[in-house]
Parts: sequence; C-alpha cells; structure tokens
Amino acid sequence: MTGGAVRAVLLDLEGTLYARGAVIDGAVEAVAALRELGVGLRFLTNTDSRTAEQIRGELAGYGLAVAAQELFTPVVAAAQLLTAAGARTYPLVSRELRAALPTLVDEPPYSHVLIGDCRDTLDYAALDGAFRAVRDGAVLLALQTGRYFKRADGDHLDTGAVVAAVTYAAGAEARVLGKPATDFFELAARSLDVPVTACVVVGDDATTDIAGGRTAGLRTVQVRTGKYADQQAEGLTGRASHELDSVAGLPGLIREWGVG
Ligand SMILES: [Mg+2]
Repeated sequence: MTGGAVRAVLLDLEGTLYARGAVIDGAVEAVAALRELGVGLRFLTNTDSRTAEQIRGELAGYGLAVAAQELFTPVVAAAQLLTAAGARTYPLVSRELRAALPTLVDEPPYSHVLIGDCRDTLDYAALDGAFRAVRDGAVLLALQTGRYFKRADGDHLDTGAVVAAVTYAAGAEARVLGKPATDFFELAARSLDVPVTACVVVGDDATTDIAGGRTAGLRTVQVRTGKYADQQAEGLTGRASHELDSVAGLPGLIREWGVG
C-alpha cells in the first residue's frame, strides 16, 4: 500500500452503488464526480450468471452509464488471462458464457479448463471431460466458487459445487478468478494500465473487497452500506484503509488523497 496519488478506482456494485434494488443516495453523482476527477474506473462484480450486457443494463436502470470496457467480471478476467497465456481451453460453461468468450481456443491438448455457470450444459460427459483435462495437467480456472445461489423458490446448486467435483476427483486445486483473488485485482489494474498501488478498491464486503484488495496491495475503502452492518456485528470490519458512510463521500476522499 502507498499513500501516493490515486490513478484508478475499482468499484464494487451490489451493496456499494445499489442495494436491495435501489441506487444508493449520491452514487450517481459520485461516479460522475470521479469521472470529472479523471481517475480510471472499473466496476467489479463476481457474477458469472448474467452477461455483461445484462449487468450494464441493470446499472443503466439505476442511472449509471457504464462503458463495456469499464465493467470487470471474472469472465473478462478469464478472457484476458487465457489470451495472454496462449491457452487451449476446455470450457465447462453455459452457452451464453461460451458466446461471451469468442477468443477462447477450444482444442486439445488442453492447457486450461474453465468452469463457470454451466446449468444448461452440465452432464456426465462434460464434467468427465473437465476432469480428464485437469488429470492430464491442465490448469483449472473457476469463474467463482459459490456453493449455492438463492432464488424465489429456495437454494440452488452453484458453480463451486461443480468445481469441487473436479478438484475432488482430480486431486487438483482451482485458481479462482473473482474477488478476493489477487489475480482479479491485478488483472483489473492491468486493464487500466495502472499499478495496483495507484488503485483504490471500494466495497461493502470486508472479506472480498477489503481483504482481497489489501492482499493484492491496493488501498481499500469500505462503505457502511450493503453488508456492512452484518459484517460489523460479526467483527469483520475495521480493516480498510478508510471507511465512508456511503459511496457519496468517495470523490471528496479521492480529492484529499490526490489524483495522479
Ligand atoms: Mg458488494
């Protein structure tokens, strides 16, 4: 961590810019003020079950216009990483995710296996193919490792359970691409051509945004919206470089810290 000038801000979405279906007071103005300050912006989310277009559509619904290259998801991180590695990738992902990864080279022998939301493609052959590639030495990448997700009718099996099946059978470990992985913050910073030490991560979650950001070497700002109250009760808060009542106070803080 440094106390130097800020060149980029990585913003969490849920709980930071909006919560429970409503935009946080002052969030739209705060993002506009950050743009005026001239800092680079990335909007970070771990979601792998909605496309970038759907997420940008939701943000637009809250009055937040986000350019395609400003949205940073595990899918974007995976595409960057696999392209840079010249990877041959076995994809165990949904049709929608596969379509969002047009540069992926899906040819054996596989150097990588990518697992993400795969609820419309998962069957024994697909899972076995992932296992066999990892067993043969391919690196296993996971878009996220949630155990289950919630819907109106209750809990449903999530990506982490599929990842666990492959790691269990192959005796391998997965490299996870979403927050709090150091990779994720580093790739987001690299997409802005800014060193992590000149980036600030802003979020409501002490475990993903703050702990992950600290480990990756970024300055961290925890907002007291979203999950904050729950996490404060659990004794998880108080580790960020700075706390703000909400994202509305962010431009003032960045001005104080100085823009590089
Ligand atoms: Mg959040």
